[in-house]
Amino acid sequence: MAEKDSSVREVLEDVFDQRTVLAVLHLMNRGVLAKLYGTVSTGKEARVYWGKDRDGRDLAVKIYLIVTAEFRRGRLKYILGDPRFEGASLRGRELIYAWARKEYRNLRRASQFGIPCPKPIAVYENILVMEFIGRDGVPAPLLKDSPPSRPYEAFRELQSYIERMVLEAGLVHADLSEYNILVEDDRLVIIDWGSAVLSSHPNAEEFLLNDIRNVYRFFRELGVDTGRPEEFFEHIRSQ
Ligand code: ADP
Ligand code: MN
Repeated sequence: MAEKDSSVREVLEDVFDQRTVLAVLHLMNRGVLAKLYGTVSTGKEARVYWGKDRDGRDLAVKIYLIVTAEFRRGRLKYILGDPRFEGASLRGRELIYAWARKEYRNLRRASQFGIPCPKPIAVYENILVMEFIGRDGVPAPLLKDSPPSRPYEAFRELQSYIERMVLEAGLVHADLSEYNILVEDDRLVIIDWGSAVLSSHPNAEEFLLNDIRNVYRFFRELGVDTGRPEEFFEHIRSQ
């Protein structure tokens, strides 16, 4: 145990507190996680690590950093108005835990409805464990760095995901762009679901239109004749 403790501490460097080290060890004791390697991404709000499960399968371990005032201000809008978090205490660490849980649930819901995303595996405190998209610890490239060979088909594919997300899964991603879509062998995989809200959320329409505009802009720049984003938005809204 002491050995595990110091190796986990080493991998997490000084970025995370002792409580987060304990949370990782808890996931190891539960048998969810067997190995934790280095970071694949060091964002402002979260770090993503490459790990493995007991059977040697790759995992992505997303660990949220403990709240800054800025995070709190920026994120409240996506949590207030979500009935799934009514009554949750949203101070300090609790807000981050709620955020990690929200991403987990959104992933679960999206997976259930066949929207391509990493399969969620576990969530504990500020740690989300999910399927690794990529190979040997190297994440699949972002759409922004890996324009599809058939952009029109990719655009249509994304349109159908957005439509199904809203009309079938009842979700709006709310942070959708070429920065949150991975390209794995020409397959598009949508990641970073922390911001996603239920379509009943008071700001859902605003977020949806924004997602659609981002996707349209990206594909228009690739030369795709996308049509107007507002038209697609209305098409979804009218159903
Ligand atoms: P944020 O943007 O909030 O930092 P993301 O969820 O977008 O967090 O993840 C950041 C980066 O980590 C991604 O661009 C990708 O390179 C990597 N990543 C995230 N989730 C996975 C995953 N399931 N499999 C492989 N790589 C991932
Ligand atoms: Mn992201």
